[in-house]
Amino acid sequence: MASIELSLTDEQRALRAGVLEICKRYPGEYWRDLDARREYPEKFVTELTEAGYLAALIPPEYGGAGLGIREGGLILETINYSGGNAGACHAQMYIMGTVLRHGSEVQKREYLPKIATGALRLQAFGVTEPNSGSDTTKLQTTAIRTGDRYVVNGQKIFISRVLQSDLMLLLARTTAVNQVKRRTDGLSVFLIDIRDLKGFEVRPLRMMMNHSTNALFFDNVEIPATSLIGEEGKGFHYILDGMNAERILVASDSLGDARWFIEKAVAYSNQRVIFGRPIGANQGVQFAISRSHISTDAAQLMRDKAAALFDAGQPCGGEANMAKFLGAEAAWEAGNACIDCHGGYGYAEEYDVERKFRECRLYKTAPINNNLILAYVGEHVLGMPRSY
Ligand SMILES: Cc1cc2nc3c(=O)[nH]c(=O)nc-3n(C[C@H](O)[C@H](O)[C@H](O)COP(=O)(O)OP(=O)(O)OC[C@H]3O[C@@H](n4cnc5c(N)ncnc54)[C@H](O)[C@@H]3O)c2cc1C
Repeated sequence: MASIELSLTDEQRALRAGVLEICKRYPGEYWRDLDARREYPEKFVTELTEAGYLAALIPPEYGGAGLGIREGGLILETINYSGGNAGACHAQMYIMGTVLRHGSEVQKREYLPKIATGALRLQAFGVTEPNSGSDTTKLQTTAIRTGDRYVVNGQKIFISRVLQSDLMLLLARTTAVNQVKRRTDGLSVFLIDIRDLKGFEVRPLRMMMNHSTNALFFDNVEIPATSLIGEEGKGFHYILDGMNAERILVASDSLGDARWFIEKAVAYSNQRVIFGRPIGANQGVQFAISRSHISTDAAQLMRDKAAALFDAGQPCGGEANMAKFLGAEAAWEAGNACIDCHGGYGYAEEYDVERKFRECRLYKTAPINNNLILAYVGEHVLGMPRSY
């Protein structure tokens, strides 16, 4: 039976303290400077990796800590709560799950221990395309088997951390859509080594926030047939299998953001005196912060419920989706309360509020937009007709 722990265990407290200790060495100035230059937090990610935190979910037999999704979430939440941006490194935690669940023993032995030590970095996940967007099964990138290789052609858009990764998990169509029974069939997942791939072009995109995001172009790119994960044609199902982990971990990013905003908003509105009293004494200021705290605590309960079910191996699709939705909305609400109470200073870069505001906004849109979460709940939780 899954049960939700209402407080952290001693081990979880120690885990959080360890991550906080690292985060302290990377204050706002560090993230602000990288944000201005749109550069990857290489030093931070390397230190986190060397301390083993990014291998939290990899089983011990492959060199990781073998912890649960609750602990993985705690690590990401702590990074964002400290003022950092776990978006730089969160993907490895959920991408490697596809290799773990569906990869062959040879693939697992070859890659997971190296990912655990940081010898190989797997932070890139290539799904989204310009012409298919959220409608993943319509993606047009093809991977055609020729002998002991697949030849990949197509484009991807908004693919993050490609230039900072050695490996990428790629979703491509291996059987044309008119030759499969269901459009969810015929897609395959590949774990590809993207260092020195011929015909592969990466064009960085300058986004609203520092997220190392790119457009990708595949022009007759040859990859070894051994990079196929699991069975050909089952890739969409494998990716779906990993969605719950992704939702719970991204919800955790958002919870960390929300807590950061709330703490910052409370501290500022308690000390900023205008009209002869702290601005936090005004209900117009205070209630917005209180409301966002309520939303954040509710989102955390849902994230904890989803994580408890996930770690107990029970179905958690509804809870994981709702946690992602509530987390993203809570962070956005807290971000607005924080920027509002800071007045003009909320827009000044040196306060970090505007940076975190831009960073937290992403999770209302990606990795899946909140409208599609509502569609999921309507269809799969409430039994209503599919709306799209
Ligand atoms: C910074 C950033 C980083 C990203 N990193 C990655 C990555 O590493 N790998 C990757 O594969 N992708 C990545 N993405 C892509 C992201 O997952 C997509 O942007 C997202 O899934 C939405 O796809 P789209 O942008 O094509 O929007 P569309 O699919 O065109 O949708 C646009 C909007 O229309 C609405 N909408 C669409 N369909 C419906 C519907 N049926 N019902 C109601 N509303 C609907 C939604 O509000 C949606 O936001 C990233 C995106 C960003 C912005």
